[in-house]
Amino acid sequence: MTQQNSGLPTSKSQSAQVLVVGSINMDMVAHAPRLPAPGETLVGEAFVMAPGGKGANQAVAAARLGAKVAFVSRVGTRQHGEALLQALQDEGVDSSAVARDAQALPGIAVIMVASEGGENSIVYVPGSNAQLSPADVQAAAAKFQAATVTVAQLEVPVPAIQRAFELTRAAGGRTVLNAAPALAVTPALLALSDCLILNETEAFQLAGLPSLPEDAAQAQLLAQVAEAAHALRQRGAGQVLVTLGAAGVLMCGAEGPQHLPAQAVKAVDTVGAGDTFVGGFATGLAEGLAPVEAARLGMAAAAIAVSRSGVQSAMPKRAELGAGFAPKR
Ligand code: ADP
Repeated sequence: MTQQNSGLPTSKSQSAQVLVVGSINMDMVAHAPRLPAPGETLVGEAFVMAPGGKGANQAVAAARLGAKVAFVSRVGTRQHGEALLQALQDEGVDSSAVARDAQALPGIAVIMVASEGGENSIVYVPGSNAQLSPADVQAAAAKFQAATVTVAQLEVPVPAIQRAFELTRAAGGRTVLNAAPALAVTPALLALSDCLILNETEAFQLAGLPSLPEDAAQAQLLAQVAEAAHALRQRGAGQVLVTLGAAGVLMCGAEGPQHLPAQAVKAVDTVGAGDTFVGGFATGLAEGLAPVEAARLGMAAAAIAVSRSGVQSAMPKRAELGAGFAPKR
């Protein structure tokens, strides 16, 4: 790993270490030709039950791309909880710091996917994810010493994330907040976020700006997204990365906005695109890549993931990205 330009302390281990603090769920995915209208019943084409949750998805995305990943979470072991932990272990993710709760149910996500176009709708029931506490995070303090990058999302309580980011900063690591789903973020958490990743809907909502109509010109969209990113930087976030689906990513750091167009692929299932991007970005950052190169790694991984069906099952291994994205030794 090249540490010279990363600004990270040299006391960290030389391998890319990513710590994910977040949710883990069982995803129940129904595929239908299109999404149903309110009150409508559609006959589906397929049903799959698979491990998910933004935290677990991002942990798996990073592990597939070659990062050494540890997971901090709270898992209810009733119903699907043990299966969820086993699935993480099968991916090589260290789950030794996960708090287990024999009384609680794990999170569940009910997902509908339209086979034409790959759009999706989701109902998420948090279960034990809502119980992750600052004390649970504190109990995993040793994991923060080893981590180069800590990643969190908003499917677990903000006080737990805040403690995680404080521990990360104290240990000399970098913090990545994926502000998804679209929920309020405290000023203190934004100020602790070296990188803030969110999609355009989440960015407009968090920045308090109106969304644009679907048919808005790309130049108009990019200008409005840049304004949102700038506003979020003003509120304390470091680098802001707004994901734009097939239109790629708009990054905004001290040097101003930069648009990175996505690879053109045929989208089959876009569920988990953002999670794959975040896992790839965190991996790149932990390897010492500059943020723009880390974002390119995340985009390359996400482009492959959307071209296949499934969430974790669609996430690529590093070698699938091609020689241009091989880890720098
Ligand atoms: P989310 O799933 O959080 O809404 P996006 O839909 O913005 O996130 O997707 C995240 C990233 O995945 C995008 O920035 C892009 O790099 C990639 N991506 C998503 N959809 C496509 C697509 N249709 N073609 C190519 N890349 C895509």
